[in-house]
Amino acid sequence: MICQLYIDWLISGLIKYHDTLKYLALFNLSIILLFTSCVGQNTSTQTTITQANLYQRIQRTAPLYSPVPKPGSRDWLATHKEPGQTFKQYQQTTKPDPEEQKKVFYIQPIGKFNPKQQEILQLTAKYLSIYYQLEVKFLPNIPTSAIPAKAQRKNKYTKQNQILTTYLLYDLLKKNFPKDAALILGLTSEDLYPAASWNFVFGQASLRDKVGVWSMSRFGDPTIKANYNLCLLRTFKTATHETGHMLNIHHCIAYHCNMGGSNHLVELDKKPVWFCPECTTKVCWRKKISPTKRTQELAQFWRKLGFKEYRDFYKRAQKLINK
Ligand SMILES: [Zn+2]
Ligand SMILES: [Zn+2]
Repeated sequence: MICQLYIDWLISGLIKYHDTLKYLALFNLSIILLFTSCVGQNTSTQTTITQANLYQRIQRTAPLYSPVPKPGSRDWLATHKEPGQTFKQYQQTTKPDPEEQKKVFYIQPIGKFNPKQQEILQLTAKYLSIYYQLEVKFLPNIPTSAIPAKAQRKNKYTKQNQILTTYLLYDLLKKNFPKDAALILGLTSEDLYPAASWNFVFGQASLRDKVGVWSMSRFGDPTIKANYNLCLLRTFKTATHETGHMLNIHHCIAYHCNMGGSNHLVELDKKPVWFCPECTTKVCWRKKISPTKRTQELAQFWRKLGFKEYRDFYKRAQKLINK
């Protein structure tokens, strides 16, 4: 049922966007096909938060979040009908998999990365491990030369090399899925396209196969100091969003939330880095994650990175959850 829904969604999305391709290409925009996971354990500090009261506890953080802003004409919600997905709907369509908690979240690097991109890749792995409370490991790098010519092209507008996402998802990641893997997320600095008719795509994932891929190509050059944080945040947002989709979390319309869709970089940049209470509850419920532990670790992570505003956000969230 879930698989069929996903396939239908993907196919209808591709057909739908074929018609808007010229428009998107003209404005150098893209559709983000994004998808995002998590695991964890209750700790002794979390004795009062149970699966039964998880929703109510996390809902206490609602005042920290903003409503979905009115979309501009090129924004995702102006061009897509999104039904949203409440936590209750998520529970009805998602089967928690206890075995998944014991497995590994693999990151598959594809192609070359400059030293700053490598640094961001390492930070992203750490961020994902906290966000989803999963063990994250890297698979050995796959060079672009190992990808067949039929799965690559030169973009006719940018003249940049691009890799076909469906090849990466189904011929590379799915066929080499390690036995102990919960999910595999491919990351490349090469630009991506999902079908011949598309200009490009930031990322794509398959819920059914638990594989996803995303690109840093259009996130700015992090070797330029002024671009570094922007590239970092774009990568974090995309990685967590993609993984959410792999866990059956649909696009969010409940709040201004990182699980909302993005049509272009400006919209991506405006999105918050965090998931809203509805989406956070889905993450914690699916993997029996302690929201206190996760929130505390996220606050520490942002403090170490020097993002005081985000550290403060998670500190406030933690207080509200424990109130
Ligand atoms: Zn998405
Ligand atoms: Zn949300």
